[in-house]
Amino acid sequence: MAIQLQQVSYTYADRSLWKQTALHDINLNILKGSMVGIAGATGSGKSTLLQLFNGILKPSEGTVSVLDVTIRAGEKSPKLLPLRRRVGLVFQFPEQQMFEETVEKDLMFGPLNFGMSPEEAKLRARQAMTDMGLDLSLLERNPFRLSGGQMRKAAIASVLAMDPDIVVLDEPTATLDPVSRAELISLLERLCREQGRTIYHRNPPDGRAAALCRSLGAAEGRADCLSGGRAGACCRS
Ligand code: ADP
Ligand code: MG
Repeated sequence: MAIQLQQVSYTYADRSLWKQTALHDINLNILKGSMVGIAGATGSGKSTLLQLFNGILKPSEGTVSVLDVTIRAGEKSPKLLPLRRRVGLVFQFPEQQMFEETVEKDLMFGPLNFGMSPEEAKLRARQAMTDMGLDLSLLERNPFRLSGGQMRKAAIASVLAMDPDIVVLDEPTATLDPVSRAELISLLERLCREQGRTIYHRNPPDGRAAALCRSLGAAEGRADCLSGGRAGACCRS
């Protein structure tokens, strides 16, 4: 199992008057090498849920197990740095994660940061470009001079360069045109099929990935899973 949540709740500002329960009693199993999409209204807890997957957020209640790491509410968590490399998180507008003057430097940043040699980091950068269907000549470009679709793919490549087992994307196709959107989804499917990576993303508007979660009264900031959120409710693309 790549990701398992048992009776997980998450409350923002737990000890204040403004406390807000974003996730309520979630049970979820995601198999290794599967591609899972999630759907739900704004505020239903999608972004909160995926930040639990690499320990950015810790559960207020319940247990989160990701690969071989278990994080239990109220207990001191284990070392999370190795998990951060193995679970790549791509935020909603990933181009905001780019900051270097060339695409290559941006792609090498993560691998270097996790202790790889410059030669290895360079190789990883090239592999990630190829995985995202980007021409290697773009490595020398300033990331901000790429087209919107290319920049989005380069930003995802900067996460892939760390060779993560699990790739978690928060609405990766937002604001892309329909052609770039379809292309990106099929690239992600290939990463899952050919490289056995587990892919978790906000599901595309064409609904090919199953709706996993729904909002149960967004007014209270609650989200819950259909059918108890078991793998059966997820879809393997
Ligand atoms: P989604 O990604 O599905 O739109 P979020 O996970 O961002 O939903 O938000 C779920 C709920 O948690 C919302 O009610 C939101 O207002 C609340 N929330 C999100 N982030 C914070 C935060 N940093 N502090 C307090 N409440 C938050
Ligand atoms: Mg969100």
